[in-house]
Amino acid sequence: MIKFFNTLTRKKETFVPVKDGHVSMYSCGPTVYKPAHIGNLRAYLFMDLLRRVLEYGGYKVKSVMNITDVGHLVSDADDGEDKMSKSAKEQQKDPLDIAREITNRFFADCASLNIKRPTVAPCATDNIKEMQQIVADLIEKGYAYVTDDGVYFDVANFPQYGKLSGIKLDEQKHGARVEVNENKRNPIDFALWKVAQPNHLQQWDSPWGRGFPGWHIECTAMGVKYLGERFDIHTGGVDHIPIHHENEIAQGESWLGHEVVNYWLHCEFLLIDGGKMSKSLGNEYTVKDLVDRGFAPLDYRYFSLNTSYSQKMNFTWEGISAAAKAHERLKNGLYAHKISNASTDEKVLEKYKADFDKAIFDDLNAPLALGVLWTMLKESKSKDIYNLALEMDKVLGLDFDKYQPPVVKVEAPQEVLELAQERFVARQNKDWAKSDQLRDQLASLGWVVKDKRDGFDLEKI
Ligand code: AMP
Ligand code: ZN
Repeated sequence: MIKFFNTLTRKKETFVPVKDGHVSMYSCGPTVYKPAHIGNLRAYLFMDLLRRVLEYGGYKVKSVMNITDVGHLVSDADDGEDKMSKSAKEQQKDPLDIAREITNRFFADCASLNIKRPTVAPCATDNIKEMQQIVADLIEKGYAYVTDDGVYFDVANFPQYGKLSGIKLDEQKHGARVEVNENKRNPIDFALWKVAQPNHLQQWDSPWGRGFPGWHIECTAMGVKYLGERFDIHTGGVDHIPIHHENEIAQGESWLGHEVVNYWLHCEFLLIDGGKMSKSLGNEYTVKDLVDRGFAPLDYRYFSLNTSYSQKMNFTWEGISAAAKAHERLKNGLYAHKISNASTDEKVLEKYKADFDKAIFDDLNAPLALGVLWTMLKESKSKDIYNLALEMDKVLGLDFDKYQPPVVKVEAPQEVLELAQERFVARQNKDWAKSDQLRDQLASLGWVVKDKRDGFDLEKI
């Protein structure tokens, strides 16, 4: 039984799929005008964790993530320039060249973080026809109206508007941050199609004038195209709740006459030094920035597993350093189990697996699940513990099996290797008494251990 917190109902609910044994999930993908920062990547680490948990739970998952290569304006509402065009003008490049370059980099970053590639990753620009069809249907059904500068969704025709964020329609009107646009009947009506100026870089013919699609319609078009008119899960960052996803719900449900998505899951924000990440503060870090400072991308994955997706997560350089050290200790500790020939009682193993599953199936409680793994490490060394950790790694995605052991120059007997590895772990845990005791034990077997910065050598006396 898997439970999720559904933003729509504001309750933790037991997950029941539309189709037995299968899961259809859609995630709002990146806007590919500049490289993803580690905050964006937190949202995709969450998407990946969700998928892995579902697969670990026995479901066959179809995961769709769109690539926004047109239509996302500088403000999530209808203000400002298209982010793609703005970036293309600044860099004097073709928007689609930028899109290709940034998309490739995005997937390379994702791969370095062990984020599985979605089953389908469609681009908005390849789905213009599908979007135009929905816009035409919405106009015909009376949910949208045509103006000089585009087609707008008429929010007054969707009384449930605001049901995801819980904001009442009149409050939205008063608090509207949206620029006044004389063409709109209501300030919170949103664009389905925008008429473009002749010098606008990305534009297509349409019955409502040459132009480009609104950002929100992209996700409705691609979600329904690849997952059907009713699918299981939709994910995104919390910033999407009040505008983007509210608009998706309004247009999608008006178009089809029923709900489209069963569970809405949102990832909280990553903060930097307790505040917002921004270019002007110079604290918008990418995976490359982490690597340049000596961290492995998977250290960031380990770091992110320590905070539940539903909580704000604070990034500091001290925090990632501590996480990297703990990650290293974890892998080393596991290696000591890997090289052991001993076994563990079946009942003990079952208890750890049950505790891990309980945590991870309870709204993806990764910090608690990691805690179970750490406790398990303290068991006496056994290959069974290592094998169970590999099973858990299907969810955690930390590549325990690829871990290279510390340096050992000499072929030593199994018993000696195990003791030396255990001593290495003790040293990492600053357990000096245990480390000294193991050194003596090794000496009594005729071996000297020499400490290196990130490992050890063994020499025969
Ligand atoms: P964008 O490329 O701007 O469309 O954003 C891609 C994804 O990153 C969206 O799901 C956002 O909600 C998410 N996102 C943006 N900033 C952050 C942040 N600081 N922390 C977590 N997620 C974020
Ligand atoms: Zn979206």
